[in-house]
Formats: sequence, C-alpha cells, structure tokens
Amino acid sequence: MSDNLYSLLAAGFPADRGRHAFRPPGGPAVSYGELEQLTARVAAALRGRGVRPGDRVALQVEKSIEAVVIYLATLRIGAVFLPLNAAYTPAEVDYFLRDAEPAVFLQDAQAFLREAADLEPDHGVEPRSASDLAAIIYTSGTTGRSKGAMLTHGALAANALALHSAWGFSRDDVLLHALPIFHVHGLFVALHCAFLSGCPMVWLNRFDEAAVLEGLKGASVMMGVPTFYTRLLAHPGLTREATAHMRLFISGSAPLLESAFVAFEARTGHRILERYGMSEAVIITTNPLDGDRLPGSVGYPLPGVELRIGGGEQTGVIEIRGPSVFLGYWEMPEKTAESFREDGFFITGDVGRLDPDGRLWISGRAKDLIISGGYNVYPKEVELLLDEEPGVRESAVIGAPHPDFGEGVVAVVEGEGDEAALIASLRSRLAGYKTPKRIVFVDALPRNAMGKVQKNLLRQTYGDLFT
Ligand code: AMP
Repeated sequence: MSDNLYSLLAAGFPADRGRHAFRPPGGPAVSYGELEQLTARVAAALRGRGVRPGDRVALQVEKSIEAVVIYLATLRIGAVFLPLNAAYTPAEVDYFLRDAEPAVFLQDAQAFLREAADLEPDHGVEPRSASDLAAIIYTSGTTGRSKGAMLTHGALAANALALHSAWGFSRDDVLLHALPIFHVHGLFVALHCAFLSGCPMVWLNRFDEAAVLEGLKGASVMMGVPTFYTRLLAHPGLTREATAHMRLFISGSAPLLESAFVAFEARTGHRILERYGMSEAVIITTNPLDGDRLPGSVGYPLPGVELRIGGGEQTGVIEIRGPSVFLGYWEMPEKTAESFREDGFFITGDVGRLDPDGRLWISGRAKDLIISGGYNVYPKEVELLLDEEPGVRESAVIGAPHPDFGEGVVAVVEGEGDEAALIASLRSRLAGYKTPKRIVFVDALPRNAMGKVQKNLLRQTYGDLFT
C-alpha cells in the first residue's frame, strides 16, 4: 500500500466534491472537486517539465490558492516540496537553489497554472513509502547556514492525524487561514487539518485585522501566531459577539504572552489553545481541547511523542522522539548527527521544564541563555517579570559582551518607562546577576514573518552597550 500523503489528505475530501475548499473573501470560491482537477493538471505539467519522484520542486511566491495546488501536485507525483519565503533576496534564494538543486524553481504560481490549463489531467498518485521525503523546510537560520529539515510522507501524515484528532476537527468546521504557507504552521498544520476534515477554509492571503474579524463570522477555528492575537486585541472590533461563531483559537510558532491570553479571554470568553512545534518535528505538544489550557504552558506531548529534559536537570534542553520527527538536515550529515542522541532523541535546542502533571513550560532557546559572571540567566524569567510592569507591552532579554562579567543582562522593552525605576523594581525581586544592567525602550521589537522576536538582531544592535 502506498503511504503517499496526498492519498491520505484526499481521503478526507468530502464525498460532495462541490463543497468549498477555499473561500477567499471577494473572490470566487474553489471547490474540492476543482482542487482535485487542478492538482491533476499541475501534476501533468510538472511531469511534463521532467520532474521525477524524489526531485525537488522549489516555489517562491506570495501566498495564493495556486501555491497550495502546486504543493499538492508535488506530493501527487512523489516529488519533494521546497517552499521559500517570498521575502528572501535573490542572493538568499541562490543559496537554497545551490543547496537543494531543485528540478524546477517556480516564481509565478498563476503562470504555472495557466501552463497546466490545457493539459490532460494526470489523476495518478505516485506510490511512496512512509520514509520517502515529502518536503524540505529551511529553518530560519539565525546563526550560520540555513538548514533544510527533511520531512517524510510518514512524518507529516502522523502529525496531521494526531492534530486532527487532538483538536477535534470535523466536517462541520470552517478554518480561518491567514498564515503564510512557506512555513510548517500555515502549510502543514493548518492545511492538513482542513483537508483531513474536508472542511472549507476562509482564505486570506495575508493577515489583516478587519478581514479576520469579518472572516470569523463564518469560521469555527483559527490558527495564528501570537502577533495575530495581539493585533486583534488592539482592534475595537474584537468582542464576544465577533467571536461567537468560533469554537477554537490556536496559537503557536512563538511564545504567547500570558497577558495576551488573559486579555483575549476577558474580551471574547475564549481561552487560546497554545501549542509548540518546529520545522524539524511539526507539532510536538499541545494544550488540551477538553481540559484546562494554562497560560504560559505549551501543554502535553502529542500521542506517540516521547519528551524528556536532557542532562537530568529540572530545566534543560528539550529532547524528543516520535513519528513526526524529521529525517535529518539536507546534505548535512554532521549537523544531523550532532542533533540526535544515540538513542534517537532529537535535541530541539529549546529549554524547558516538565511540571508534575506532565505539562511542558518553555523558557527559551538554549542559545539565548545568558552567562553573566559565571551564572546562568534564563531570559524568560526576567521577561515574565518585566512584562508585568506598567508601560511594558513585551520585553526581550539578551546578553551583551561585558568587560567584567563576560555577558551583562540587557532588556529591550516594547513600550515606555523609566530605566532606573524599572531596574530598581526588578532588583527587588531578582538576584543582582539576573537584573538587567541596562533597559532600552523601543517602539517595536524586531520580528520575523512568524512573529518571532529576532534576538540575534538585538544582540547585534546592543552588542556594544558595555564596551
Ligand atoms: P520554526 O522551526 O521556525 O517553526 O521555529 C521553531 C521554534 O519556535 C521552536 O524551536 C521554539 O523555539 C519556537 N516556538 C514554537 N512554538 C512555540 C511556543 N508555543 N512557545 C514558545 N516557543 C515556540
């Protein structure tokens, strides 16, 4: 039997193929039947361009329904999908193309679909085994070369099925999709849940508060990055009535501020379900659908995922093993070997702790750990205190080279306040070595497309504060 992921997803398509798959506001809806036809034509076009099973298909385009069609067609023919952020510069793209050597590189999804329009649809699905590659996702690569995480048909299928069940997806759902689709969140987590349920998606090509609020009226589930939620909270239209149709709000890709969780519940009555994942393993843990969703915790490991804290410490690097973990980094055998323990556990690079209930609490990336005067400072501990201070919307704590201490703690705060007063307030609750020696106020913290604060940029900008 073939384990091609496309077959699994298509088995979820509704028997009534006239049902909508995509509902773009203001544009024509696309039915599941049309989606199937389009992917069959595009599969023929890819084959016509000489793409063979195992070949890479690279795509760098703005988000569109056509891009999803190309993704599904790539799966159908057993090729390997390689999405690239539209924001990458030609020099960056050049690196990915040299590294992954795709058989085709598409930068105009609409033109490619026009090329396919007159072709005889190819309804076949290439047989694949669970261990065959389905996609390569390049990590954002804040240090060194960006690495291509190799995800298999089996890994994506296992994760999709686990999430579909954990989050209670059904035919009756309508998913609001406003995420980018060059990243695992919008591409795999969101799309696969919708396809497995055969449910429609309110389809937004970009996040826009007003369009999302309008879309929520006809949706039941939304997946977002934390910045979606903070931006919705800043909009007066976010009310109990505006979200009355919704059953579930999910957040991930970056830490959700506890203040955002609390404010969202107060405004809408919904407790956001936070989950944790990464390109190398898709989703790893989730708060429960039924049961208490705790602000600040990313919940429990998904069924089948083994999770432990490395080094036998209470707080330490999170290691995982399970069906959705990637095969390794494309053409980087040494990096791959360094990233796995001998017993097969993948070293995530995130630091966290498990509480007695088995819930995971993440305290940041291992590489963001600060060592000041020989003592470890976990930025999250300081950030949580700062975020409670008046005038602070969000904070990012980093280490900057310091002549005495090796590194000195610096806090960069989105908001306004008085540096000396804030330092004094923190000092009353924190050991001296953990207390920021400097606090800098900014209008907005630098973030990537997924809303993650770019601490590497902050370290560059504030690297000479003490020297
Ligand atoms: P990426 O591979 O770009 O998806 O980035 C994955 C990283 O995002 C993880 O290793 C975590 O550091 C971070 N991340 C994802 N979800 C969460 C979350 N809910 N809370 C905290 N960090 C998260």
